[in-house]
Amino acid sequence: MKKITKSKAKKKAWDAFSLWIRQSNEQGGLIECYTCGKFRTLKEMSAGHAIGGRNNAVLFDERIVKPQCAGCNIFGRGQYQIFAYKLIKELGMGVFEDILTKSRIPVQYKTYQYQEIEKLYKDKLERLVSL
Ligand SMILES: [Zn+2]
Repeated sequence: MKKITKSKAKKKAWDAFSLWIRQSNEQGGLIECYTCGKFRTLKEMSAGHAIGGRNNAVLFDERIVKPQCAGCNIFGRGQYQIFAYKLIKELGMGVFEDILTKSRIPVQYKTYQYQEIEKLYKDKLERLVSL
């Protein structure tokens, strides 16, 4: 296996994860923004976090990552208030609080773990496409 740097492995893992988040929410070629309800194409959407994932703990947590348009994700700084409100309604306060607690614990991934995440989501994407 070719050696790659950890930051490159992280980026590739995120790319696969982000693509899966968006692709799995696609309906008829368009994806709905979780926080404003606008429909956009895959390329115009990004994957946004309901809880800041600066220390990795919730970076790849499917429960709190949803498709967002650039208006919300970048210019609206994630629209955390709408995002959190909707998620709490979906998941319940208990689950949301668990994820919040988890988000405060720093997690260190090794390069191979990023590669496993990349593979996991590439496999999921393949299964999605073949449906
Ligand atoms: Zn939006």
